[in-house]
Amino acid sequence: MKKLYCLLFLLLSNCTDAVMNKNAKIYIPGHTGLVGSALMKKLKKDGFNNIIVRTSKELDLRNQAAVEAFFAQEKPEYIFLVAAKVGGIYANKTYPADFIYDNLLISANVIHAAHKHNAKKLLFFGSSCIYPRLCPQPMKEEYLLTGLLEKTNEAYAVAKIAGITLCQSYNKQYGTHFIACMPTNLYGPHDNFDLEKSHVLPALLYKVYRAKKLNSPHVQVWGTGKPYREFLYVEDLADAAIFLMNNYDGNEIINIGTGIDVTIKQLVETIKKVVGYDGKLIFDTSKPDGTPRKLQNVDRLHALGWKAPTSLVAGIEKTLAWCEKNHIFDQA
Ligand code: GDP
Repeated sequence: MKKLYCLLFLLLSNCTDAVMNKNAKIYIPGHTGLVGSALMKKLKKDGFNNIIVRTSKELDLRNQAAVEAFFAQEKPEYIFLVAAKVGGIYANKTYPADFIYDNLLISANVIHAAHKHNAKKLLFFGSSCIYPRLCPQPMKEEYLLTGLLEKTNEAYAVAKIAGITLCQSYNKQYGTHFIACMPTNLYGPHDNFDLEKSHVLPALLYKVYRAKKLNSPHVQVWGTGKPYREFLYVEDLADAAIFLMNNYDGNEIINIGTGIDVTIKQLVETIKKVVGYDGKLIFDTSKPDGTPRKLQNVDRLHALGWKAPTSLVAGIEKTLAWCEKNHIFDQA
């Protein structure tokens, strides 16, 4: 039954001839961030030689006229829309207006310009927090908009849901090829390691590294340590994104994850092992836990033919090696 579903899904997903050739003009809004950097690295490694980028200073994606002028001039063929205002649980709770405003404008401006200037294909990046707070686990794509959202990141999630609906609406009305993927929690090189704004994995990697360096007897972990989270190494995401750009053309969203999750306590224990630190954990329950669990169902992605290759331990080791090489924790 599952095999039949997968086969049907593949047929319905209408794999087109839209495979990017090596000279295709590819635009990556957000190329310096966590996902953008990994995509740049992978596309260059794969031989793509016509990638265009602009820093946020050169092009403010919240400015509709500026985005329109850029698209009119450059006419990119393929767009990986990774630009977004992102942050961890504390940043989302503290700056909800910035999270919804910036993300709505970025998505609306880029998606509309891509349509107006006849882009061949656009891949929009959503997030696993678009699913209901108490969603059945693992979360299937069709559970979108079936329940109330998690309050700590509601503003961000609503903006991302608007981005998905934009893609689907332009496809329906104008026959565009705008696809949308939902990556789970990401980590890796070029992540944000600022302890107030970052997500849990980079935050705990930094805290554990610092505790070891300073011979501190304990590390503080926010919340109870009981929530579950799924983590995907960002270079795997880049690989999956290029795979989808070349192999998927449906209107349904696609989850990207590993299909495996761990508790925050298990995560910090794993980080302790990788870093080589054996101090105590102190759980600060004055900080929020957020959603109890958000494991993605990745059957659709597996049916299309892609699976995440990097284990959590290997991914944390690679991230730590990158941090050390680039002196990210030098002030620790
Ligand atoms: P979320 O996945 O949107 O909830 O965002 P985060 O990645 O920021 O947080 C995930 C979980 O990790 C929450 O339960 C946090 O309370 C917990 N957590 C534990 N320690 C930390 C920390 O130092 N920083 C962050 N951001 N989260 C932490």
